[in-house]
Amino acid sequence: MQFAVLDNQKVQPIKGRIGYCPMCGAVMIAKCGKVKIHHWSHKGRLHCDRWWESETQWHRDWKNQFPSEWHEIVQYDDEGEKHIADLKTPHGLVVEFQHSQINSEEKLSREEFYKSIIWIVDGMRRKKDNERFVNGLREFLTTKIKNTYWVLEPKRAFPSEWTNGKHIVGFDFGIDQNGAHNIYLLFKSQKAQYHQCTIVDKADIVKLISDGSLLSLMNEISSIKQQPQKSPKKSNTWISHKGKFIKHRRW
Ligand SMILES: [Zn+2]
Repeated sequence: MQFAVLDNQKVQPIKGRIGYCPMCGAVMIAKCGKVKIHHWSHKGRLHCDRWWESETQWHRDWKNQFPSEWHEIVQYDDEGEKHIADLKTPHGLVVEFQHSQINSEEKLSREEFYKSIIWIVDGMRRKKDNERFVNGLREFLTTKIKNTYWVLEPKRAFPSEWTNGKHIVGFDFGIDQNGAHNIYLLFKSQKAQYHQCTIVDKADIVKLISDGSLLSLMNEISSIKQQPQKSPKKSNTWISHKGKFIKHRRW
C-alpha cells in the first residue's frame, strides 16, 4: 500500500519506518527496495484485504493524479465486511485501478460492495490485449456523439471479463504515436442493446472524476436515443495506434 497510518496521519513508506494498516490495524513495514515501488507491507503475513492487488508504477501514476486524501479508503458494508478502495472521491465515486487479471465473480463482488464504481484497466499488460484492441477498433461504428462509437461485439476489442458488467470500464492503452494518452470508456447504451465506447483524454478523465461530473456525463451519453447503423456512411480516416496506422471510421 502507498499509505499506512501513524499518529492518525497517512504516511508514505520511508526506510526503517513502521506504521499501521488503516483497515486491520496490524503493524506494517516500509518496503523501500530497488525493484518494487516503495510500499507498506503487513508484517509477516498476507494482506488483510483479499481484493488487494500489489501495486505497480501504473497504479501509482494513476492514483497520484488525485489528492492523496482520496487514496486507499476503507469502506464498510452493513454486514461488517470491509475493503480498501484504491480511490474514493468526495462525490462518493470509487475508482479501482486494475492491472492483474480478475475473475468475473470477484469483479461482480467488488461492484456490489462499492456500488458507485468505475474501473480503470491496464490494457498494456498482455500483448494479445493490445492486438485484440487494434483489430477491434476497426469495427467501431460512429454514433451521433463526437468521440463516441458503437461497439457491437465488445469481446472482439476488449478482454471478455470486462465486457459483461453494468459499470463503466476505462481501458488505458498508454500513449499513442502522436503523444495522446486516450482512455477508452466502455459502457452499455441505455437505449440500445449494445455497448458504446467514448474516447477521453487521460487528463480530461482525471478532471471529470475529480469534479464529480463523469457519471452524469456518461449517463447523458448512454441515454441518447439512437441505434447503430450497420452500414454507416463511411468517411474513413487513418489514425495511429501503438505506432501502427489503422483505418478508423469517423462520422
Ligand atoms: Zn491490514
